[in-house]
Amino acid sequence: FQLNMEDLERGEELGRGNYGTVTKVLHTPTGVTMALKEIRLELDNAKLNAIIMELDILHRAASSSHIVDFYGAFFVETCVYYCMEYMDRGSLDTVVNFSFGETVPALHPGPDGEEEVIWQGVPEDVLARIAGSTVKGLKFLKDELGVIHRDVKPTNVLINNRGQIKLCDFGVSGQLEKSIAKTNIGCQTYMAPERISGEHQNTVGTYTVSSDVWSLGLSIIEIAIGRYPYPPEAYSNILAQLKTIIQDDAPTLPSDRYSPEACDWVASCLVKVPDGRATYAELLEHDFIQRDEAKANAENGDAVDMAGWLSKALQFREAKIAHVQALAAAALAPSA
Ligand code: ATP
Ligand code: MG
Repeated sequence: FQLNMEDLERGEELGRGNYGTVTKVLHTPTGVTMALKEIRLELDNAKLNAIIMELDILHRAASSSHIVDFYGAFFVETCVYYCMEYMDRGSLDTVVNFSFGETVPALHPGPDGEEEVIWQGVPEDVLARIAGSTVKGLKFLKDELGVIHRDVKPTNVLINNRGQIKLCDFGVSGQLEKSIAKTNIGCQTYMAPERISGEHQNTVGTYTVSSDVWSLGLSIIEIAIGRYPYPPEAYSNILAQLKTIIQDDAPTLPSDRYSPEACDWVASCLVKVPDGRATYAELLEHDFIQRDEAKANAENGDAVDMAGWLSKALQFREAKIAHVQALAAAALAPSA
């Protein structure tokens, strides 16, 4: 079916990125809840049409359980809109952005009367599931659609209440990529060193696939430690940060919390020379992922409780938000 604005009933805003807004919508003819992404572009109709046609290859693609479903795209005036599967727990950055061991007062003290909630981070089996799902999504895009993601980062890795992990925002449309102003690269970059230094700017080929592998490694560390992996002093100055990425050793997974296999897997993504990085096939064959596969295929059902972990994470997040709000209210209250 053809999607159009008249059939979409707007709900809450899900988030805002550098280029547009994502809104929860209800497609009234089918009753399907979707996520609507709006990208504002100053383009003529011919170019907008080209983008819509390019996005349409997503329709013809056999679906993968590791990329979000695509429902359709259209444009109104100078905005491109596309509808994708709504992931009810949002992106991973919001789920895990806390420091390990952080405690906040419990919102609903449990049966044992716990007064505090502790952020236990992302256990290794959950991290392996996230990493494996992401690699499978990226491999599917490349093998089945001939598409390189180009924007792998935690905000583009989505999760739902069943604990399924899916990728969104991949570069299917060359025209769209060209039209989105790349002037604002944000204050945290996931770009591989070779993309920053621009040596391979014109050799679109193997380099771009392995650039996604770099971004993947960086994203997995961010998900594990709850913050962007490069030191905060680099945030304030984007040029200093880019220099650090090119010159310094790549970040690593904390070896006191994760096994040598997990650390090795991430290190094989974050090799500074693009040719030295692991391929998707190698990443999937690695013990870190293979151990997770064994659990997924376990006789008594999946041994990794993704949904259980997710609900604990959301409990922490909820308690943390309430705590921060209470602190803010106390700070604003007139002192006695
Ligand atoms: P950038 O603009 O650099 O790509 P971004 O990925 O954060 O950054 P958007 O892609 O516009 O920006 O997405 C904004 C937010 O909307 C995301 O961070 C995510 O939390 C939420 N979001 C995006 N797609 C979906 C979806 N399909 N279901 C649920 N939430 C989504
Ligand atoms: Mg995004």
